[in-house]
Amino acid sequence: MAARKRPRAERRQNDRDVAKLVEARTKLARLEAGGDPARPIEVPSASVIEVRALTHRCLACDGELRVHEHRAAHDLREVELACKRCGRRRVLWLRVSLPS
Ligand SMILES: [Zn+2]
Repeated sequence: MAARKRPRAERRQNDRDVAKLVEARTKLARLEAGGDPARPIEVPSASVIEVRALTHRCLACDGELRVHEHRAAHDLREVELACKRCGRRRVLWLRVSLPS
């Protein structure tokens, strides 16, 4: 018996489903802490910014992230991460809490 191949249309549908899922996760992540400059992740010191950012995972494949770029804008830090597995970018916003 010949190996059953998945029909091309089904494969395309699956790709679309994955893309939709990633899009939904990306939208959701934007609403979470760190997903938007209005909702930064608060950190106690600048030295832990990248450590905190790296606790997040890739939204597409759940792979580990590495820091691609780290930008400072006023009291906000924008950390651009890239997935080690699929290369997808993810941006996180953090803010160093001022000592009270
Ligand atoms: Zn990935």
